[in-house]
Amino acid sequence: MRSYRKELWFNVPTRRAFMNITQQVEECLRESKIREGLCLVNAMHITASVFINDDESGLHHDYDVWLERLAPHEPVSQYRHNATGEDNGDAHLKRQVMGREVVVAVTDGKLDFGTWERIFYGEFDGRRRKRVLVKIIGE
Ligand code: ZN
Repeated sequence: MRSYRKELWFNVPTRRAFMNITQQVEECLRESKIREGLCLVNAMHITASVFINDDESGLHHDYDVWLERLAPHEPVSQYRHNATGEDNGDAHLKRQVMGREVVVAVTDGKLDFGTWERIFYGEFDGRRRKRVLVKIIGE
């Protein structure tokens, strides 16, 4: 069995953003030379997510509005977590809702997606360097 590991680094200039990282993951898969197996992609930070959905800007806007309604950033004093001196209590909650990781089947050297599926990095406490892990196993 072959095994491949890579860290992708991001530095999002805003507090919150969604980024399509499908091409970077496909590049990892090419590098791995794995034709059949599984590809795991996970955020290595507890205030960021990796998820699969549609690459449609209206939907990404809707996610942001929905998440802000669920867990507004302000006032930061509403979160007990922020009593530690942080201001990212909302970001931990948003990450929990949007998920930590995705697993995609690898078939014939390609990510075996449904028609509209793409991989996204969801940032909820940006403006610093953060990592995503890509692990691919198979043969
Ligand atoms: Zn925190």
